[in-house]
Amino acid sequence: MYIFALLNKKVMRLEKALNDRYDERGDNHIGSAPETPLRDDAFVLSDEEKIKRIQASVKDILVTLGLDLTDDSLQGTPKRVAKMFVNEIFGGLHPDKKPTSSTFDNKYKYGEMLVEKNIVVYSTCEHHLLPIIGRAHVAYISNGTVVGLSKMNRIVDYYAKRPQVQERLNIQVVKELQRVLGTEDVACVIDAKHLCVNSRGIRDIESSTVTAEYGGKFKEESVRSEFLDYINLDTEF
Ligand SMILES: [Zn+2]
Repeated sequence: MYIFALLNKKVMRLEKALNDRYDERGDNHIGSAPETPLRDDAFVLSDEEKIKRIQASVKDILVTLGLDLTDDSLQGTPKRVAKMFVNEIFGGLHPDKKPTSSTFDNKYKYGEMLVEKNIVVYSTCEHHLLPIIGRAHVAYISNGTVVGLSKMNRIVDYYAKRPQVQERLNIQVVKELQRVLGTEDVACVIDAKHLCVNSRGIRDIESSTVTAEYGGKFKEESVRSEFLDYINLDTEF
């Protein structure tokens, strides 16, 4: 018994140390490494098991807040939220859901930059779990390989569907396209509203955050400004 108590104490101390580490950054939005910090055992549980566990946790939160979960309107909320987390808004955590990007030969010999702009971004801030809503503008210069246009939307969406930091999303999109296209010449600009800034805290509904990542030729002033000019073109149909 004594040994169990001792062990338990040790686990509790470890948990406290971990929690302290999670909490110490407080409200500071600091971008970290380009990879989403996932544990090695991130995909040991099946999606069904994750939904069950999250459902119980959401229920616990709502009950703690004092809500009556027997009420018709609230009854299904824990399961709805759990399914939404696993299948939708955090569905992009699972490597199996990464879009396969079939590439093609650049048979038109198009040598200028290709810009896919105004790609809708729906993501979730990992500091507050509140929505990030915005637009991504992605460009590349082909070195002989091209991808289907919608693949760029899918890549943005895949990396957006996880707890995110805008800087990291920006880098992940560029790195993935660089890998798929086999070129460094990829750029991405994201302009997004963070509801953690707009709807709480400072409550600044006007501000948005712009991040940019330029690879290869896009580091050159003239190439970069050509890209930014295209983004600023009015697109009205
Ligand atoms: Zn936030």
